[in-house]
Amino acid sequence: MSARLVLLGTKGGPAIRPGGPWPTSTLLELGGRTIVVDCGLGVTRGLTDAGVGLKALDLIFVTHLHSDHVLELGPLIHTAWTAGLATPVRVFGPTGLNRYWQSFVQALEFDIETRIADEGRPDLRRMVEVVEFGEGEVLRDGELNVTSLRVDHPPVTDCFALRFDCNGESVVFSADTAFFPPLAEYARDADILLHEAMLEEGVERLVARTANGARLREHLMASHSLAGEAGTIAARAGVGRLVLNHLIPADDPEIGEADWIEAVRKTWNGPLTIGRDGLVVTAKGEDAP
Ligand SMILES: [Zn+2]
Ligand SMILES: [Zn+2]
Repeated sequence: MSARLVLLGTKGGPAIRPGGPWPTSTLLELGGRTIVVDCGLGVTRGLTDAGVGLKALDLIFVTHLHSDHVLELGPLIHTAWTAGLATPVRVFGPTGLNRYWQSFVQALEFDIETRIADEGRPDLRRMVEVVEFGEGEVLRDGELNVTSLRVDHPPVTDCFALRFDCNGESVVFSADTAFFPPLAEYARDADILLHEAMLEEGVERLVARTANGARLREHLMASHSLAGEAGTIAARAGVGRLVLNHLIPADDPEIGEADWIEAVRKTWNGPLTIGRDGLVVTAKGEDAP
């Protein structure tokens, strides 16, 4: 069974707009495992719409603690628990993740205690194992091997690209990062590279309609990659397919898929997918939602 991705949320940043795409989260099915990478707002709905039974929640990875990647982690696990979660969940993320989780269950203490007493549920707090990781090996579990690489996402220092290898297949997530050449070596020969991307003209339009525009431009340029830079990483790494996600901007009606493709084609000639919510992607291609 080959690796399959469902792009649950494909926009960069925390804002949502009517009918627009959702912040970052992705479902990865690899070697028979169900893996969630990042938990931006909408992840629970996205997984449900993708046909994933929440009871089967297994492995969750968070690339960094920006809210567009972690805001719905607690609500996802809690909803799985109320849906009848039967087996423990393991959550992997950078330093600080444990504090997020402890604070979340503390905030929901009333509900958790009530449901244990009233509905006879197992204690959610004993069903979740939080593993904080640094750079290097993250998990070895059967055939599944997960590693991390610290990327360049100021002012966040603990932001990690992730590489999943299983039975000769590999999928790499760039996480949020400025152009970061070491990613090319890290993603060497991966079947699929999911890389974040910005479109320069779109950023200018975004900056023009934002109150604090100059500051926003400065942050975006220092902390994120242009679409052409994502293409450069893919080309140097020799990946099987490049998938752009965490798109900035993702909801500008003046910018369409053709604009993204044009920007990436300057540096990458291989198989290419421009992410959109609900899209199913394999190394061979994509299916409409
Ligand atoms: Zn982000
Ligand atoms: Zn970020």
